[in-house]
Amino acid sequence: MSLKYDLHSHSTVSDGTLTPAQLVNLAADAGVNVLALTDHDNVSGVAEASAAAEERDMRIVPGVEISVSWNGHTVHILGLNVDPENPILRQGLQALCDYRHWRAREIGRRLGRKGIGNAYEGACELATGALVGRLHFARFLVQQGYAKDIKEVFRKFLVAGKPGYVCGDWAALDEALGWIEAAGGMAVIAHPARYNMTRGKLRRLIGEFRELGGRGLEVVSGSHSKDEYFTMARHAKDFGLLSSAGSDFHGPENPWVNLGKLPELPPGCDPVWKHF
Ligand code: AMP
Ligand code: MN
Ligand code: MN
Ligand code: MN
Repeated sequence: MSLKYDLHSHSTVSDGTLTPAQLVNLAADAGVNVLALTDHDNVSGVAEASAAAEERDMRIVPGVEISVSWNGHTVHILGLNVDPENPILRQGLQALCDYRHWRAREIGRRLGRKGIGNAYEGACELATGALVGRLHFARFLVQQGYAKDIKEVFRKFLVAGKPGYVCGDWAALDEALGWIEAAGGMAVIAHPARYNMTRGKLRRLIGEFRELGGRGLEVVSGSHSKDEYFTMARHAKDFGLLSSAGSDFHGPENPWVNLGKLPELPPGCDPVWKHF
């Protein structure tokens, strides 16, 4: 029997809505055998997830999704199978979380100037974990009736050119890859089809990533279309990269992203999990 892998998921440690233990139990119920917990810029949920997974005969891959600024784009790099105790990784992630706290206050100030009061406080109240992200602001603004759903609230308030947008100042690509390597992990470009880049620019990113020691592309993602699986599988092959698969699950309130429902990698892909 082949194992079910899901190598990209979030808990309340970052912007997911389930605690690490709740996430593990839901994944186990859905038949997932190997789950990577990849919270944004933080590894503090891994211990709870691993403990819960032992009870369910499931394996946790300790992971993280690192925010990176590259040529004017925000890019997400997954570190899979990292040692969550590694001091170099922890120090790097701490700097990103410090920046996130500053950015959250700044988002709150900017929304305040547009007449939206207490957004910082509201987002912090919804963020019960280690960091405050845009999704916490989005949930608060929907609760307050500023938009009908999360998609609309991003479009109206939280993306470039909109009142609550703060241009990210994240890690450099080589820094993020250095932290992952120091922690013994494998670097994978998350949801590569979601960056609004031309094909040429995306291939430049993949080439640089590969030169710096990056290992894989997330070919199958909860946010990719079927066509995109095949395009990304082609890029992985061209650059000699491994392929990964992850739902990017943030919680059961997004029924279109389901745990345990990922399709197989396209033929010819070399799965990243064979190399852990
Ligand atoms: P941040 O890293 O705090 O800037 O927030 C990025 C997160 O916001 C992503 O990981 C998603 O969870 C969420 N997000 C970004 N854009 C959208 C969108 N258009 N609709 C829904 N969620 C989004
Ligand atoms: Mn997120
Ligand atoms: Mn992401
Ligand atoms: Mn993610």
